[in-house]
Amino acid sequence: MRIYIVLLGPPGAGKGTQAQILAEKLKLVHVSSGDLFRENLKNKTELGRQAQFYVDRGELVPDDITIGMVRDRLLKEDCSNGAILDGFPRTPAQAEALTMLLVELGGRVVSVPFIYVPDEVLIERLTGRWTCRAQGHIYHQKNNPPKVAGICDLDGSELYQREDDKRETVMRRIQVYQDQTAPLIEYYRQQGLLIEVDGTIGIENVTDHLMKAIQGAH
Ligand code: AMP
Repeated sequence: MRIYIVLLGPPGAGKGTQAQILAEKLKLVHVSSGDLFRENLKNKTELGRQAQFYVDRGELVPDDITIGMVRDRLLKEDCSNGAILDGFPRTPAQAEALTMLLVELGGRVVSVPFIYVPDEVLIERLTGRWTCRAQGHIYHQKNNPPKVAGICDLDGSELYQREDDKRETVMRRIQVYQDQTAPLIEYYRQQGLLIEVDGTIGIENVTDHLMKAIQGAH
């Protein structure tokens, strides 16, 4: 049985950071829809061209494009044990599509941690965030700086500020999250899968809470 964990939470909650750690600990693949889009943008693929308009504005890429992209990723060989999903699903239609895809793949969502963080903390985190060019590793200029400024500790690649981490786009992304993604909290709560975790207690403490909750879930 394939096992999937869906990380829910606003942009800047720490989904990417925690997904990387959990993937390592649980020996599951980290699938980030945002990373997949950024890879396509970088490689100037047709999908990247279609997504660019939305990603640049902090808006959601249309469901059909997003679902197709994530579906292709989850069908790959390295996802044969399941995956940690970060940034997907983000709309009710995406959640329904995921449920159907998992029926097809013979897997199930075992837990949905919802990492909650107040808006003012999100803004501070996102506008100070630096991302690694090669693999998307995440740092913060104050809270989690790299050992050498501008260089990723893990793979030595350059760190950059994402275009959509600029203040105006950050505000838009938080609004989009409230309007389109927050309804998924209820959706997964009703399925008995939701676990609420305070995202402000420090990276290691958040990981501890997540690990305990996930291990209790299956
Ligand atoms: P993220 O790295 O998760 O913050 O995603 C960056 C951007 O990619 C978002 O602001 C959207 O434009 C796009 N994106 C990522 N995941 C999704 C999704 N599940 N549905 C639609 N758009 C997405």
